[in-house]
Amino acid sequence: MRLFASILVLCFALTLTAQDTLQLQVDVVYLSSNLLRGREAGTPYERQAARYIASRFEEIGLSPKGTEGWFQPFEFTYKPNPHSETGERRTGLNVVGYLDNGAPTTVVIGAHFDHLGMGHFGSRHVGEPAIHNGADDNASGVAALLCLAEKLKNEPLTGHNYLFIAFSAEELGLFGSKYFANHPTIPLDSVAYMLNMDMVGRLNAERKLVVNGAGTSPAWKETLARIDTLGIHIVTTESGVGPSDHTSFYLKNIPVLHFFTGQHADYHKPEDDSELVNYAGLADICQLIYNLIAALDDQPRIEFRKTKDESERKAAAFKVSLGVMPDYTYDGEGMRVDAVIDGRPGAKAGMQAGDIIVRIGDVEVHNIYDYMEGLSKYGKGDSAPIVVLRDGQKITLQATFE
Ligand SMILES: [Zn+2]
Repeated sequence: MRLFASILVLCFALTLTAQDTLQLQVDVVYLSSNLLRGREAGTPYERQAARYIASRFEEIGLSPKGTEGWFQPFEFTYKPNPHSETGERRTGLNVVGYLDNGAPTTVVIGAHFDHLGMGHFGSRHVGEPAIHNGADDNASGVAALLCLAEKLKNEPLTGHNYLFIAFSAEELGLFGSKYFANHPTIPLDSVAYMLNMDMVGRLNAERKLVVNGAGTSPAWKETLARIDTLGIHIVTTESGVGPSDHTSFYLKNIPVLHFFTGQHADYHKPEDDSELVNYAGLADICQLIYNLIAALDDQPRIEFRKTKDESERKAAAFKVSLGVMPDYTYDGEGMRVDAVIDGRPGAKAGMQAGDIIVRIGDVEVHNIYDYMEGLSKYGKGDSAPIVVLRDGQKITLQATFE
């Protein structure tokens, strides 16, 4: 009898574990199936993915917290070619669900659900257009978002309310999260912190998880060091600015973290498929993040810090400016220009949106920080050659700083 009872308990436990992983797999496989054609923002396939996520939010027992039920529509300009003068106006949809615990503060948990469609923009694929399924990027993050919603509903942590957001148009320029940060459906000053999951499906044999933004609050490293990480090795980076949606919240002075299992050869290619996702690893990451939230359940607020690398260099760079907007979503070599402000030094030198700055004077620019470093060497009225890549060609422009 006792043996029978133990077997029953064991079977029950196994079923629970299997079901946890099974639901993650169902969510990833559906979202990254050919049915959804790569979930490009502003297309019917993005709508279909949004409806699926809303139905899962409903099934879990969240309440709608968009502006039209579960959805928060927003307009953005789609430019498949960044050099083109005009773009196509499109409407994207964020999907927003709320778990109200009657607390004064709310934790925002987010993951983008859009991807590259047929690869007309942002793809690393060479050849005929093909469906970019985006299983790791970022069906995996959405599955983790749903997993966390389910856990926080069924094993409540009541110190905060929880707002779950599936963002759209991340791939095209963080448009969904920028829109939400500027048109929040809860008061932004009630947000305790924001957690972003973008590409969490490829936990490898070394079980290394990158956690970006650890410098945005002194609480992060201390808390990450004391929670059960399920044998996952956490590698932290400081900056609150990165190529994903947490940036939009960091820029509103909210502590953020971005969870990321790392870059791989299938990144932004049609080969980023569901059979390559590590589902057991994904379940562990969901549990790890739950453990982090649990460890902070009795703290209404954690302190916000501007990250060192950014604030220091930015302060230095403020002496002069080119009048260009950096593209925070760009993660290749150099600093890609998102927009050029008319009449400012960049525009006067002939700089164009889409240019990639690779050198300022003597400073080689590999990323946005080198760019700031480069600018910090000059004062108002100084001139410097700026090398940009435009359509693969190196062009030297002469800028006079203001
Ligand atoms: Zn992504």
